[in-house]
Amino acid sequence: MKNLILIAAPGAGKGTLSNDLLEKYDYVHISTGDLLREQVAKGDDLGKKIHEFQVAGKLVPSEIVYEALEKKLSDKACDNGYILDGFPRNIEQAEEYEKILERSGRELGTVIVLDIPKEDLIKRITGRFTCKDCGEIHNIYSEELKPVKEGVCNKCGGELTQRKDDNLESFEVRYQTYLESTEPLIDYYKAKGVLHVIDSSQGHDYTLEQAEKLISN
Ligand code: AMP
Repeated sequence: MKNLILIAAPGAGKGTLSNDLLEKYDYVHISTGDLLREQVAKGDDLGKKIHEFQVAGKLVPSEIVYEALEKKLSDKACDNGYILDGFPRNIEQAEEYEKILERSGRELGTVIVLDIPKEDLIKRITGRFTCKDCGEIHNIYSEELKPVKEGVCNKCGGELTQRKDDNLESFEVRYQTYLESTEPLIDYYKAKGVLHVIDSSQGHDYTLEQAEKLISN
């Protein structure tokens, strides 16, 4: 399967689309946000440093991200194809990624942009709850993704938690960072002929359907 890169503003549905694709396809999900949160959970000095950037909604220094990513890409399971979620975040990371691809013998694949208006993002961010056990993403403002029982995962019954950076203040910083640093990647990948845009404001089923068309092409 083609490797996928998902580019989108915070809350646009990268995580949800990734989970949906993982249920149907043999992809490996590489979320740099998750890789960094795993490091934070270790509670060491590096984890504490990363945590400060994440809670403030700022990008973590790229070197830390490259190391975690390259380690993950050395995993044989990535041979079947992987979904890159949250990386690259800027042109500099995209350029470095090409060097990482060369070193790891992997292909760029297809780039998917999830397009959605800012007003929708705020609801998605402030209403987002993730299962501690299986990672399923819920949203209290969405008919499709609402937890049936408050605080309980629809899929496995696990406990739902809210990310520390899923608040309005942190969202504004993350959104500005997206506009300034990440959005220029759209032209960057368009010029390479690998870019596809999906209107993710049309909901979770529509987004999955469109992404599946791209994978099968
Ligand atoms: P995400 O889970 O993708 O929303 O990322 C959450 C936070 O992790 C971001 O706000 C950044 O602080 C950090 N992060 C994730 N991916 C990257 C990246 N590629 N470069 C720098 N920081 C990142």
